[in-house]
Amino acid sequence: MLTSKSDTHVVVMGASMGGLLAARVLSNHFGQVTLVERDPVHDQPESRKGQPQTRHLHGLLASGLDILTRYYPDLPEALTARGALVTDMTEHMQWYAFGGYRKRFSMGVRAALMSRPLLEYLIRQRTLALPNITLLDNTAVKGLAITTDRQRVTGVQVERRNDDADVHTLAADLVVDATGRGSRTPQWLAEMGYVAPDESEVKVNVGYASRVYRRNPADPLANDWILVTPDAPRETRFGGMFPIEGNRWIVSLGGWMGDHAPIDEPGFLEYARSLPAPDIYETIRDAEPLSDIIPHKFVSSLRRHYEKLARFPEGLLVMGDAISSFNPTYGQGMTSAAMQAIELDQLLAESDISQPGLAAAFFKRAARVVDIPWQLAVGEDFRFPGTTGPKPAGIDLINRYVAAVHRATQDDIVVGAAFINVMNLTAAPTSLMTPGMMLRVWRANRRLNQQPSKQNRLTSSSTVPA
Ligand SMILES: Cc1cc2nc3c(=O)[nH]c(=O)nc-3n(C[C@H](O)[C@H](O)[C@H](O)COP(=O)(O)OP(=O)(O)OC[C@H]3O[C@@H](n4cnc5c(N)ncnc54)[C@H](O)[C@@H]3O)c2cc1C
Repeated sequence: MLTSKSDTHVVVMGASMGGLLAARVLSNHFGQVTLVERDPVHDQPESRKGQPQTRHLHGLLASGLDILTRYYPDLPEALTARGALVTDMTEHMQWYAFGGYRKRFSMGVRAALMSRPLLEYLIRQRTLALPNITLLDNTAVKGLAITTDRQRVTGVQVERRNDDADVHTLAADLVVDATGRGSRTPQWLAEMGYVAPDESEVKVNVGYASRVYRRNPADPLANDWILVTPDAPRETRFGGMFPIEGNRWIVSLGGWMGDHAPIDEPGFLEYARSLPAPDIYETIRDAEPLSDIIPHKFVSSLRRHYEKLARFPEGLLVMGDAISSFNPTYGQGMTSAAMQAIELDQLLAESDISQPGLAAAFFKRAARVVDIPWQLAVGEDFRFPGTTGPKPAGIDLINRYVAAVHRATQDDIVVGAAFINVMNLTAAPTSLMTPGMMLRVWRANRRLNQQPSKQNRLTSSSTVPA
């Protein structure tokens, strides 16, 4: 039985965004938090071996930025001080989708534009500055320590990577698995005599190719985030170009269903030129490259249904990509991790950590958090006939209407604002389906059909009416 909070110790496996956010909230409820990370971690922005995705474009949704700012109040200023941009998202948006530019307008939703290594570094610095959090880097978790009756996890078996492969046990009152999509908890559960969670897997065969370029601050688009997304399923290619710190652009090009961008220079440029809007190609064709072109394959979105398990050992939780890894083109992973962290914080504030059932209660809350981004990502992916996996009921009909919503954002900023709220996970998808919204969508599409060439490239901003 635990006597006081100061006696308690929690181990978080994995010190990427999910693990850092878990550690931050756990520090409110436990005496000591130890983050165990397999890679060496240095006191600087960096992409590590265990998180290859950090070399690609990373957008942070507005709800993610809000949660991060709640836990790290000086984050926006710290980002800006390092040369990142924290701006009104819709005012600085140059987004071509479904055959036209979405209207630019001002609605006061903040976005942060930076490299993923910078964001994670600032989060890590602030997390490790807390007196009860320690990082054990260069240390791999090899397994779980459990009681002889296999009812409770009592710690982790770790191996310091520069020692002589000596495995020792780190005792803990709670262990949190934030080791990402490659999490071994399902195998460990099976080895302990538990049932591994069912998985939902939706295959999309998405490929990224990314490169960093020098950004000229005098470029008319220099402070804008630029997206070109396909009129699916007719088009399968996307491009994203975000301004990041150090007067740089990060450019990611790619496509669904194997239509991936080449990683040789002429092929990469030609792929940019083939996108349905010219902004990215016109900017990078003469820009100075500052990195190689780096590929990343993302075969499928994967969700592990821990919330459906009837039995689960005490003293163990799983979060972040280890629960759900989404098609990254929708930019939801870090926000989903942040939303799970806030759920964990609230649950621990309401619970006695020595009582059984914490995992079941957490997985139920985490599943509610994951449901909406999963529904949005998987729903959009099923526009492509090659997508396989559990298909949500009625999605073809919903997708036809949502395509009309996408088009309406080229004309009507009220629809545009509603769409941005749903995309940022600050409003429910049903908010796009009220009778009033449907009427606006229909009228906007009718207007657009009467002016098929109407575009909104670099227009001046308006403000969304209340
Ligand atoms: C190409 C791409 C682009 C993306 N773009 C976006 C985006 O625009 N916006 C967004 O919000 N999200 C994006 N994501 C998702 C985002 O990167 C993740 O959701 C986010 O990193 C949270 O993941 P995590 O911390 O749970 O896991 P990960 O980031 O995968 O981290 C797992 C950590 O655990 C460590 N680890 C693994 N095994 C062990 C072990 N045995 N012992 C100790 N440590 C271990 C790893 O080294 C790593 O540090 C993208 C993903 C990809 C693939």
